[in-house]
Amino acid sequence: MALIVQKFGGTSVGSVERIEQVAEKVRKFREKGDDIVVVVSAMSGETNRLIDLARQISEQPVARELDVMVSTGEQVTIALLAMALIKRGVPAVSYTGNQVRILTDSAFTKARILHIDAQKIQGDLKAGRVVVVAGFQGVDEQGNITTLGRGGSDTTGVALAAALKADECQIYTDVDGVYTTDPRVVAKAQRLDKITFEEMLEMASLGSKVLQIRAVEFAGKYSVPLRVLHSFQEGPGTLITLDEEESMEQPIISGIAFNRDEAKLTIRGVPDTPGVAFKILGPISAANVEVDMIVQNVAHDNTTDFTFTVHRNDYNNALSVLQGIASEMGAREVIGDTNIAKVSIVGVGMRSHAGVASRMFEALAKENINIQMISTSEIKVSVVIEEKYLELAVRALHTAFELDAPAGKGE
Ligand code: ASP
Ligand code: MG
Repeated sequence: MALIVQKFGGTSVGSVERIEQVAEKVRKFREKGDDIVVVVSAMSGETNRLIDLARQISEQPVARELDVMVSTGEQVTIALLAMALIKRGVPAVSYTGNQVRILTDSAFTKARILHIDAQKIQGDLKAGRVVVVAGFQGVDEQGNITTLGRGGSDTTGVALAAALKADECQIYTDVDGVYTTDPRVVAKAQRLDKITFEEMLEMASLGSKVLQIRAVEFAGKYSVPLRVLHSFQEGPGTLITLDEEESMEQPIISGIAFNRDEAKLTIRGVPDTPGVAFKILGPISAANVEVDMIVQNVAHDNTTDFTFTVHRNDYNNALSVLQGIASEMGAREVIGDTNIAKVSIVGVGMRSHAGVASRMFEALAKENINIQMISTSEIKVSVVIEEKYLELAVRALHTAFELDAPAGKGE
């Protein structure tokens, strides 16, 4: 008999009919003899609706009160689901974060979980009940209601699975798993049976927004096996695990991630002296701008060109910081470009294979796509290219790394 935590997102509980469907699904699992803890989000759109109400009162609502309010969305769905289970003859009980005692810090709207009392839930499970827990919320030391940040129900699910030492945390959503890349860009993208936490983090942070990144981090840290599944279609989904299988069939690259949210800035012809990088990036970080990729190159005349990327939203801010320091540093000019995109190949298989980056560059060269920047890590190679070539690049790489679904599949 296994203990499974199942998390259902907003679209999966978006109407009474859907909640009944979820209850039916849970009932079937129960019949097989597994212990089930269910975590649910608010009905889709509800959290936004509530936030909108608050905004009608105040542009910047007091965070504590915002949490008192938005936590109600999940309080509705836990009760409805428990009712639907009981109606089916499945003993069930619903709990808010406070009732479980999901203890968090007091950082309203972005609280972190400190501790979960497992006892009460374990008692209910022993008594044969399905426990339905409100996602996204907790309570601080003083008894204030807190929330975990948007998409936080994923984190609740994983944290509960860790606290209860569950066999698996299943995240039910509106896609049937994690894909090799965005199927809207590559029709031949395939669902992955397995992916490692590390890979998933790279894929998620690069735009494959299936799971809240924090939940993946949490699952990796506590070794909670995580599975992404479709709420209403049968299928194995994608298992996210720690182990890297050393099998012959294991592809070198697990997926192609991409991101259109970055912009590039260059400060050119800066006299190359120790401390240049700090003089440039110090003021950038002081302006609260996060830097992603960095390239520095020294010319034969002992000046350096320093290029980096930032989130597009921070572009204007970063540009004015650079313009402010350029003359003082003796730089020739400052230039920027927002028409860029980042494409990354991700895979733990890279660790044991040479020539992965060159294969990537070859595939891009064949399509005549110019690479503007490159960065690498142990399991990732990223390039910056002109935005208009993004989709072409992703498709070319998907084919070059043999990720395309066989004909007839994945279309
Ligand atoms: N209801 C919350 C949100 O919309 C939490 C969640 O859905 O995970 O962000
Ligand atoms: Mg979600």
